[in-house]
Amino acid sequence: MNFIPVNTPLLDGNEEKYLLECIRTGWISSEGPFIKQFEEKFAAYIGRKEGIAVANGSGALDIAVQALKIGPGDEVIMPAFTIISPAQSVVRAGAKPVLVDSDPESWNMDVTQIESRITPKSKAILVVHIYGLPVDMDPVLELCKKYGLYLIEDAAEMHGQTYNGKKCGSFGDISTFSFYPNKHITTGEGGMLMVDDHELAERCRKLRNLAFESGGRRFIHHELGWNYRMTNMQAALGLAQLEKIDKHIIKKREIGNAYQKGLKDLIGFQFPLGKTEYAENIYWVFGLVADSAELCESTIGKLNAAGVGTRPFFWCMHEQPVFKNMGFFINEKYPESEKIARNGFYLPSGLGLLDGDISVVIDAFKDSTGYL
Ligand SMILES: *Cc1c(COP(=O)(O)O)cnc(C)c1O
Repeated sequence: MNFIPVNTPLLDGNEEKYLLECIRTGWISSEGPFIKQFEEKFAAYIGRKEGIAVANGSGALDIAVQALKIGPGDEVIMPAFTIISPAQSVVRAGAKPVLVDSDPESWNMDVTQIESRITPKSKAILVVHIYGLPVDMDPVLELCKKYGLYLIEDAAEMHGQTYNGKKCGSFGDISTFSFYPNKHITTGEGGMLMVDDHELAERCRKLRNLAFESGGRRFIHHELGWNYRMTNMQAALGLAQLEKIDKHIIKKREIGNAYQKGLKDLIGFQFPLGKTEYAENIYWVFGLVADSAELCESTIGKLNAAGVGTRPFFWCMHEQPVFKNMGFFINEKYPESEKIARNGFYLPSGLGLLDGDISVVIDAFKDSTGYL
């Protein structure tokens, strides 16, 4: 039996050609011509002045938090339901994540709950666009302005998505992307920070490179940085992928729409919204939220037995053992986020999905759940 994995990347363009060029020219480290090209082209695509390519999307968030000088005594407002990356960046910087529950329909941060979480210690709002639909940005932008807060935008799942016609990744003082192989475009591992302010961009570049000073005696440091440099080989992949990004987005939406249509009679599951007032779903993944945790678990088991890979949804930040052990989020409850985390899972939705795979997945549902 063939197994359909949750993700397979699509490397059918100039990836091989550009990678070979790295090897033939010897440019394999973070020096090399593709990095700057990839930064400039992706920044132009998103509509930002500068892009700073890094080793991964989590590292981009580490740099974002440090570049904005967020540290001990500061609070950062963010969703309870997210991958751990943004929360760990804030905690590592010595600041405190302040959580907001999810909107039960879009699965994004419920922006109507943000203002009540703002305190004199608040320094930034960190939005994370989840699974294919953007956060409702207008109210967030208003709050940032009203209270003088930075906006960090984790757009790791949103390459090419728009909010009211404006690209995701164009909203934050710093916005970040990931190019992990399950994202809309990949560099294997990789990420990028998006910035308009030149000084801030230079600061991000410095932090990416061990906080080397641009002038003065080399190897004398005034601040700790990271080695989060992207290699020319990663950028080679990125450039080739970027040439195809519009096709990738179309394919992702086709996959999402095919599942919406093929599974529409399924009972006992909540579907992703196809669209909101401000965006059409880009279906980074195609997720379902079961009516109960038991149904979620049994469905994952049955699909797996039928050769269909799945992944459970993210787990809430306030329920992470690592953060609880550090004394964060004691007795906090975010009921909508908890429900999504416990009952949600996603289906194979990678760009390398073969034509017949979607019907195999749909049939596996029909045969195994008894809910159709
Ligand atoms: C994938 C992802 C990240 C992490 O990116 P890596 O490149 O894997 O470090 C961060 N935030 C979100 C929302 C993601 O989906």
